[in-house]
Amino acid sequence: MIRTVEQYMESLNDGREIWCMGEKVKDVRTHPILRTIVMASATDFVVPHLPQFRDLFITKDADGEDVNFMNTPPRTVQDMVRRRECYMTGCRHGGIVLHCMGVDALAASTVAAAKMDANLGTEYSKRVENYRRYLQKNDIGITGAITDVKGDRGLRASKQVQHKDFYTRVVDRNKDGIIVRGAKVHISSTPGANEAIVLPCRAHATEDEKDYALVFATPLNAKGIKLLAVEPNNRTYGEEAHWDYPKSAALGPTECLIVFDDVFVPWERVFMCGEYQYSRDVTYAFATFHRLFGSTRMSAECETLVGAAALMAEYNGLEKYEHIRNKLAWLAMYAETVNAVSRMAAIECQQELGDLMVPNMMYANIAKFTFADNLHQAMKLVQDISGGIPATVPCFKDWQNKDLHPYIEKYLAAKDGIPTENRLKASRLVKDFTGSYWQIANIHGEGSLAQQKMFLYFMADWKRFKAAAKRDAHIEGWEDDPTYGFVFDPREMIEKKMPPIDTSYRL
Ligand SMILES: Cc1cc2nc3c(=O)[nH]c(=O)nc-3n(C[C@H](O)[C@H](O)[C@H](O)COP(=O)(O)OP(=O)(O)OC[C@H]3O[C@@H](n4cnc5c(N)ncnc54)[C@H](O)[C@@H]3O)c2cc1C
Repeated sequence: MIRTVEQYMESLNDGREIWCMGEKVKDVRTHPILRTIVMASATDFVVPHLPQFRDLFITKDADGEDVNFMNTPPRTVQDMVRRRECYMTGCRHGGIVLHCMGVDALAASTVAAAKMDANLGTEYSKRVENYRRYLQKNDIGITGAITDVKGDRGLRASKQVQHKDFYTRVVDRNKDGIIVRGAKVHISSTPGANEAIVLPCRAHATEDEKDYALVFATPLNAKGIKLLAVEPNNRTYGEEAHWDYPKSAALGPTECLIVFDDVFVPWERVFMCGEYQYSRDVTYAFATFHRLFGSTRMSAECETLVGAAALMAEYNGLEKYEHIRNKLAWLAMYAETVNAVSRMAAIECQQELGDLMVPNMMYANIAKFTFADNLHQAMKLVQDISGGIPATVPCFKDWQNKDLHPYIEKYLAAKDGIPTENRLKASRLVKDFTGSYWQIANIHGEGSLAQQKMFLYFMADWKRFKAAAKRDAHIEGWEDDPTYGFVFDPREMIEKKMPPIDTSYRL
């Protein structure tokens, strides 16, 4: 089944306990801020219906019914490349939020279940496959809850001091199922998800940690689950939010702290419970799948980031300058490198136990690392190219004020032919995307980086630098330099005190 937006919206009216900025949320669909992430999540139920993307997102299950391709396990290189194409297409539409963490957690559960069944004679694969069928038949939106709150990072789960619930664990079990306790933090897409797959975030590889070796799926409205949404970047909504915070207002706030306050999970939704030797497998498999997603999401993000720098250069009339072109070239290289290596992670995927394919671990990690490790440099260049305007740009309410508007229109224009509004909107994007007022203010306050370089170039003591080089290269012309002219050359004096060179060597 491929759900419609209406069906998806109806499914969120499920009585979940969710909180935002200290207030209990009556309905995520009507909450002025949480509505944003619900809309982004709903994109996952729009794009597959678009004629141009149907063939990409829709496939058939064993009964010949339409199902979302993201809910199927990748079995060939083509499947993996298609999976990445789905991620990319979804991200470019501002969606795929319900078909990333959750489906990656499902893939990881598949890998670990196969290993446990092969080595221990368990029957987890059957449960995982039943759950997959349920997801396919009902087109359920899932998130992946992996990151535990962890407490003291220097201590293992069972050695924590204040309490034993810093890592999610099983606290009781009976013939029907298990009771789980703990909390997962920073979990994206939660307000708009129907269910979550919960995995350990690290290996709990010793017997005394077996209660933490736990994988299960649960609806987010289950009794005992509390969802605490993060504080949003912006507190406006509607047209104002989209003008002032174009990125944040399209996707956020997405993360929740998920508290499991003794939640019941029936056995058919438990995919690991106590098999501590396999907790490493499930975390590694998740990380590998999810880094393919991460680097794909980042490839799409890079397109916007680099595009924002190019727009600001164009709108400010700067494209012709060499230092600006050099910076734009670096940004383009950065974006294309992340994209290319991420694609390689899909193309060079590897076969796991059974016929499941997993992304290439090396390339998936290189792509994610390259993006994240260079991100601040990229942001710095975007801020540098953009000038100070993203820090001080007027907001929507200023722009709408009829007394202020003509002055803003006139004085904040830049290149002829570019509407002032476009320049302001691009500035708001840079402001929202690249961080804070403080970062931009501190790059541009007291002059841009290029201005300092200009001063540096003109003020640098080139005579001294050249004298140093000439002296080392035995080129005449350093002897009059006020610094190097006084530097004593000890070689002649030392050589006089050494025995003569033995010339019998063949050099
Ligand atoms: C916006 C956002 C969205 C996210 N979405 C999700 C999601 O949907 N699902 C999900 O499960 N998770 C999600 N995460 C969590 C993400 O994977 C974690 O933030 C990340 O793994 C780091 O964990 P932490 O935040 O607890 O930081 P910490 O563990 O506190 O790490 C801080 C630093 O300490 C180091 N460190 C920590 N422990 C050790 C140790 N034992 N030995 C040596 N060094 C150590 C780390 O390497 C790091 O440098 C999200 C995070 C963010 C910020």
